[in-house]
Amino acid sequence: MTSTTFFRSLVVALPLTVAQAQTPTPATGTPNTDVFLSRIAMRDGALIVQPPINLTRRDGYDNQPSFDARGRVLFYTRRAPNALLRDSLRDVQTDIWRYALDGSDHTPATVTAESEYSAQVTPDGNSLTVIRVERDSAQQLWRMPLTTAGTAERLVGRVKPVGYYAWVGGQVAMFVLGSPATLQLMDTVSGRIDTIARDIGRGVKRVPGTSRVTFVQRVGTSWYIDQVDLATRAVTRLVKTLPGVDEYAWVDSTTMIAGTGTTLQQWTRAQTGWTVVADLKFAPLTNISRVTVDPTGSWRATRWLAAQFRDAGLKPAGDSGFVQRVPLASTVAAAGARQRPQLLASWGAYDSVPAERRLPGANVIGYIEGSDPSLRNEYVLMTAHYDHIGVTKAVNGDSINNGADDDAAGTIAVLQVARLLAKGAVKPRRTIVFAAMTGEEVGLLGTRWFIDHPVRPLSQLVANLEVEMIGRPDSLAGGAGKAWLTGYERSTLGDQLRDGGIPIVPDRRPSQRFFERSDNIAFARMGIPAHTLSTFNLHADYHTVRDEAQYADPAHMSRVIEAAAQAMMILANGPKPTWHPNGQPVGTTRPMR
Ligand SMILES: [Zn+2]
Repeated sequence: MTSTTFFRSLVVALPLTVAQAQTPTPATGTPNTDVFLSRIAMRDGALIVQPPINLTRRDGYDNQPSFDARGRVLFYTRRAPNALLRDSLRDVQTDIWRYALDGSDHTPATVTAESEYSAQVTPDGNSLTVIRVERDSAQQLWRMPLTTAGTAERLVGRVKPVGYYAWVGGQVAMFVLGSPATLQLMDTVSGRIDTIARDIGRGVKRVPGTSRVTFVQRVGTSWYIDQVDLATRAVTRLVKTLPGVDEYAWVDSTTMIAGTGTTLQQWTRAQTGWTVVADLKFAPLTNISRVTVDPTGSWRATRWLAAQFRDAGLKPAGDSGFVQRVPLASTVAAAGARQRPQLLASWGAYDSVPAERRLPGANVIGYIEGSDPSLRNEYVLMTAHYDHIGVTKAVNGDSINNGADDDAAGTIAVLQVARLLAKGAVKPRRTIVFAAMTGEEVGLLGTRWFIDHPVRPLSQLVANLEVEMIGRPDSLAGGAGKAWLTGYERSTLGDQLRDGGIPIVPDRRPSQRFFERSDNIAFARMGIPAHTLSTFNLHADYHTVRDEAQYADPAHMSRVIEAAAQAMMILANGPKPTWHPNGQPVGTTRPMR
């Protein structure tokens, strides 16, 4: 729900690709490499790669990029002069450096007398693991504190040397050098180590969100990417590698990206080969050797929701499966002011905005086709917003606004109603469209794009029910299991639902103007009866870091969600709601731009 008084910036965590180019440095004989950063997006199942930015821009070795768990910091390996060492060693020693993606400086993450490589943040987000080349030249996996406090410890002493690795919960899959090189799995709790595969290449990666690991398997002169399920140890062959390339990265659990020469290429499950998605020779990048992808971002929520919509049995209604892409850009902020996303008028406008200002927004949309041949062209729309207000000043060390009530609760309602109705025995007569909208908190951005690009004509939209903040009961609605409806007196929709047995009352706090404070208002201004179902009890955690899931009342939520499912069936099957005289709000959605 939107604040009445001020906007805060929406922090959109971006999916990012880091590629890295390599050109020879004749002076030292060591490769001169740089770390590049670009934004990626997915449209119609295809990756779109924006122009890369060179982050390191210096002579010398900058390589092995890796994001932290929140996509805020990039770690990389840097060969830099080290004052701790005597002259002969200074120029060959490597350390891990960090680059904050908000644009601040590069700073060292490790300052040691040994060389470190291949940094990764551990799954708990608390420490960094690195390959350290010890004084006897053994390559070992070490854990280092992320902050300056604490000491480094060696994680694996019995296998060596370790080259590359991937974390899966408390297990770590390691590429262990030798003849042949082997894939070994260590349980960090029990210390047990198993060999999973032999004769492998360098790339060892976790499939995001799963307990599966992929690795490069050599068979004769051919290299394949194979996948092992750590629970069953079953190995599946996925695809041949690009010729001579044993590095790659997972974008999500179905799509990989890899670089060769000047191109980035994509592979998606069930495809037999790789597809070129970008040629970066004008960047200029000459020889891409590694790629890594930010594991976080609003895209993670987008992909999760899209998968849930699919599993619920909905049909996709976005422009790329369930995803409706929304062109957003950050504003050019005055000095000291917070940047705020804005909705662009078109993809053409998006393409003309400098790459570093583009923000890939997305609504997630699916539908159940109506069963009545004469009514199925009409539709009713159930919405919630899945954005929130992002990161703000820390309170007791917590700076993340989870938005459990506002509006993960409503998003879950949309998802659960979709599950109930898609699998229900009785099909709705009108089509029901389900949408999780983005950018509500910063000006209903996703909804405004939807209105300009409706998945079905707005003239066929019969009613919109937004669900907002149903995590905690409200005594003014009648307590647990009961809800209120904004703008109840404005249209016939409220009485229609109440006559159908839905436990709702009019909004008891008209001075809060809740009718105008969520996505529904944009539809109402287009003339569509549109209201918000809520049980927000004005709790003080609204728009604070304390809006967290443990304060939700699941029994209350379940009852409201079941009522919302019935409400959607009433709207899909019953008469069209109409505005009462003077009930339709004046004004249009457009002036909000
Ligand atoms: Zn809000």
